[in-house]
Amino acid sequence: PLLSLYGLLERSANLYPSTKAVIDSGRELTYLELKLAADRFAVYLFNSGFQMNDRIAIMLPNCLEYIIAYYAIHRLGGVVVQVNPLYQSNELDEILRDSEATWFIGREEQQEILRVTGFSELVTFIPADISRKGGPISSTMDKELPELVLDPKKAVALLQYTGGTTGKSKGVMLTHFNLIANVFQDFSFTAEALELQSPGERMLGLTPLFHVFGNGRLNSAVYAGATYITLEKFEIAKVVDLIRKHRPTIFPGVPTMYIALLNHPGLTADDLSCFKYCSCGSAPLPIEIIRQFQTNFSLSISEGFGMSETSPTTHRNPVNGQKKPGSIGIPYPNTDARIVDMKTGTKVMPTGDAGELIIKGPQVMKGYWKNPMDTATALREGWLYTGDIATMDEEGYFYIVGRKKDMIIASGYNIYPTEVEDIIYQHPAVKETCVYGVPDTYRGETVKAAVVIKEGRSVSEAEIREFCLQRLARYKVPRKFEFTNQLPKSAVGKILRRILLEEEMQRHT
Ligand code: ATP
Ligand code: MG
Repeated sequence: PLLSLYGLLERSANLYPSTKAVIDSGRELTYLELKLAADRFAVYLFNSGFQMNDRIAIMLPNCLEYIIAYYAIHRLGGVVVQVNPLYQSNELDEILRDSEATWFIGREEQQEILRVTGFSELVTFIPADISRKGGPISSTMDKELPELVLDPKKAVALLQYTGGTTGKSKGVMLTHFNLIANVFQDFSFTAEALELQSPGERMLGLTPLFHVFGNGRLNSAVYAGATYITLEKFEIAKVVDLIRKHRPTIFPGVPTMYIALLNHPGLTADDLSCFKYCSCGSAPLPIEIIRQFQTNFSLSISEGFGMSETSPTTHRNPVNGQKKPGSIGIPYPNTDARIVDMKTGTKVMPTGDAGELIIKGPQVMKGYWKNPMDTATALREGWLYTGDIATMDEEGYFYIVGRKKDMIIASGYNIYPTEVEDIIYQHPAVKETCVYGVPDTYRGETVKAAVVIKEGRSVSEAEIREFCLQRLARYKVPRKFEFTNQLPKSAVGKILRRILLEEEMQRHT
């Protein structure tokens, strides 16, 4: 039985020893080599005094060293704390303070950032490239380590900090059981249904590993014995080169990645003909983007839904059955989902009516780290309250309407930014947009849209407004449009409404 995340790697090293596990900028390791490298790293950590349940921060971009370190830590039953490699000292300081990590894996640059925090004396720095140093790797390394015994339902594998989209990010405790359950759910829902070959598939692993969405894809790839092809940074020209060179078959993306691919000149349907399966999650995927991807590349995107709190995936459009654009699909196997009234959270809403999405399943977190208050609000009688507003149709497909926190109330009307954004995206000159509410003395709030125009295009405010007026009730149409060169984004590429709101507030004070 699979009882730990390390078990995923061990299993594939036994079943598919000579299959390529990782390709990272010209460096390649097979599954057996990856396991041996992880074992060697584990021996190094163990000899340095690392113990079970120790918390250890990894602050790295997507790279081979990340993956080696990740499974090495799991070999020893440690708790991984993933840190955005773009963080500055003050942000790192906060995560080290909150997580109480006592170990830290990074490169020289990160060591420099660590030095400035208040924790440089308290945590032990481990250079990320330790796995490349030292003598030859031997298959007896594992024997030098204590046997791994843990209770998968209790032992926390990952302290996953949330995206910080709506505010300060929270540490989510995910157990080995949570994460492995989601790998199995994912595998039976997608890989098996698609009859993907296992091994032999190649996954384009571009979503950041330090984020739950990227981390989950890595675990899925390792379980399937697929080759995980990665790149430190999403630079569209390099991504296109990578696709042309390695011909990946599976592409898990986020909306902004699909938008970047669509806007890349010279990218053809032939270039992307290697993709057997494209999935998307982490933020709303505009229907227009799905349509354009279909038209330009003859590829359908299977949208899904996930959160840090759910390891991450809970919903997806069926891979063989009907995909509904604008929907996050149906619940994963063994996952219950309901729509309940927003105020009390108890009454189940009639089909088609909006309410808060709640979820129950083996992938639901153990709780927030050192945060019983938020845990009690989010977890009630085994149900996770997502804070997302959604609807369900007669066929059991779910639709995210928006986040509770993002809803705009203008003159008493509820307006969901996503609905308005979906319309603006339909305008041919629009590349990206973000809709939000700004304070208004008369209406309480009024709708504003920040818009990025495609290169070489132009459009006036009056034209866009007219375009919206023809497609939306008047009260939903933005009163203000602001044209800008780029929108603020989180590390996973989510457009950060919060930052636009903060800028707006500063202008008002
Ligand atoms: P924070 O909780 O710190 O504000 P976050 O919620 O963005 O940040 P994550 O756990 O990374 O952090 O993201 C989960 C959220 O992403 C969901 O609650 C939901 O709002 C959003 N999301 C994920 N997938 C989709 C999707 N397909 N459509 C719309 N929203 C999505
Ligand atoms: Mg959240």
